[in-house]
Amino acid sequence: EIRTRIAPSPTGMMHLGTARTAIYCWAVARHFGGKFLLRIEDTDQVRSTKEAVQVILDGMKWLNLDYDEGPIYQMDRLARYKEVVDQMLADGRAYYCYATPEELDELREAQRAQGLKPRYDGRWRPENCKGRPIPEGVKPVIRFRNPDEGAVTWDDAVYGPITVQNSELDDLIIMRNGIPTYNFAVVVDDWDMKVSHVIRGADHINNTPRQINIYRALGAEVPVFAHLPLICGQDGQKLSKRHGTVSVLEYEKKGYLPEAIFNYLARLGWGHGNMEKFSREELAQVFDLKDCSRASARIDWKKLDWLNGQYMKEADDARLAELVQPRIEARGGLIENGPDLVQVCGLLKTRSATLEALADAALFFYVEKDADPEALAAALADGGREALALFGEKMKALDEVTPENVYHAIQAVMAEREIPMKVLATPLRVGVCVADRTPQIDRTLCLIGREKVLARIAKALA
Ligand code: GLU
Repeated sequence: EIRTRIAPSPTGMMHLGTARTAIYCWAVARHFGGKFLLRIEDTDQVRSTKEAVQVILDGMKWLNLDYDEGPIYQMDRLARYKEVVDQMLADGRAYYCYATPEELDELREAQRAQGLKPRYDGRWRPENCKGRPIPEGVKPVIRFRNPDEGAVTWDDAVYGPITVQNSELDDLIIMRNGIPTYNFAVVVDDWDMKVSHVIRGADHINNTPRQINIYRALGAEVPVFAHLPLICGQDGQKLSKRHGTVSVLEYEKKGYLPEAIFNYLARLGWGHGNMEKFSREELAQVFDLKDCSRASARIDWKKLDWLNGQYMKEADDARLAELVQPRIEARGGLIENGPDLVQVCGLLKTRSATLEALADAALFFYVEKDADPEALAAALADGGREALALFGEKMKALDEVTPENVYHAIQAVMAEREIPMKVLATPLRVGVCVADRTPQIDRTLCLIGREKVLARIAKALA
C-alpha cells in the first residue's frame, strides 16, 4: 500500500513550503488509492506550541487536505521510542555518551583548527571507554552507532541517485532526557506507520543517509525518498518573510481562495504538460513525483493573483457572499441595509482578484455615506443637474426596474439632452452610488433599488 505523511513541527506558522509538500503527499496517496497521514512532530518542547498545532490543523482544513490517519503526536509515543532505544542499547547499536557540552565544544574547536569538519569522535563507544569512569553529575545522551565503513546510497525520486560515505557521518544523538531527536523519531514513526514514500523539503537531504542507517540497524524496510527543492522568492533566495507572505493562513486573511492556493502551490515546482489551472481531483489523477522539478521554484505573486482571479470568476455567488460578508462588516458595512449580497458578488466577482478586493468594491452598497459636496457640485455643473433630474423622472416611471430598462432610460436621457454618457454617469456615481468606482451602472442602480435611487437623486439635487 502507498502511504505518505506530512510531518510538520508545530513551532510557528504553516509555511507555504510545508503546504506544498502536504499537497504532493496527498496527491501521491490519492493517485494510488493509498493513505495520507498527518503527524505532528512536537518533540521540541521549547519551540512547540498548542497554537502552532492549531495553525497546522486549520491550514490542512482550509486547503481541503483530508488525511486518513492522524493527527498523530510524537509526544504520545515516547514509550515506543524508549522501547526501540532500549533494544538498540541491548544490541550494541546505540550507547550512552557522557561527553559534556564544553568537552564537545573543545573537540569541535580542535577539529576546526585542523581544517576538519566537526564530527563526534566516538569517545564513548564501548570499545573506546573501557575502564574510563562515568563522570558524576553528567546526564548521558544516547547515540546511534553509525557504521564506519561503506556508503549509503538511495535513488531519490526527484534528485536521482545520491551517495554519501559513512566516513562523512558520525554517531548522532537519538535520545536526550527520554525525548527522541528528530532523526530517530522520524524513522521509528515512518517504520511503524508503514510510510512507503517520504516526501519532504530538500533541506532534509543531509538527514536522509543518517536515517537510512537507522532503518538498516532496525532491520526495517527503507522507504522511497523524494526531496523537493525549496521555494524561493523572485531573487532566487530561500523564501522568507522579507519576500512577502509565507504563512498559509495569511493567504486566507488576504482573501485568497483555498483552491487557488492549492493549485498555485501544486504547480510550483511540478508540471504536467501545459496544465496550469486544475482541480484537486485532476492533480491526483496525473501527479507523478518524477515530474517534480529539481530546480528551486520561484514564487510569482502576480501569477497567483491572476489564478485567484480566475477562481473568483468561477466561484459560486452564494459561497462568495458568505466569505465576503464578514469582510464587509469589518469595514463598517451593514449587510441588511443594502442589496442582496449574493447578487452583488455575482456582479463584482469578475473584476475582483481577491475576496478583500471584492469587499472593497462592494462596500459602497452597504454604507450610507453623504456625497462629497465639492465633487457633487462639479458633477452637477455643465448639464449634470438636468441629466440627473431627467433620469430620476424616467426611473420613477419605469414599469419594472431591470438592468435593460435602466439602460434604456440612461440612453433616452443621453439622446434627449444630447450629452455623452459621462455627463449623467458622473452624478450617478458621485451623488447616487457615492462610490469611487462602480460596476456597470445599470445593474448597480437596479441593486440599489428604485426607492433609494430616487431618494438620493432628490437629495443630490436639493
Ligand atoms: N518535522 C520535520 C519538518 O517539519 C519533518 C521532516 C520530514 O518530513 O521528515 O521539517
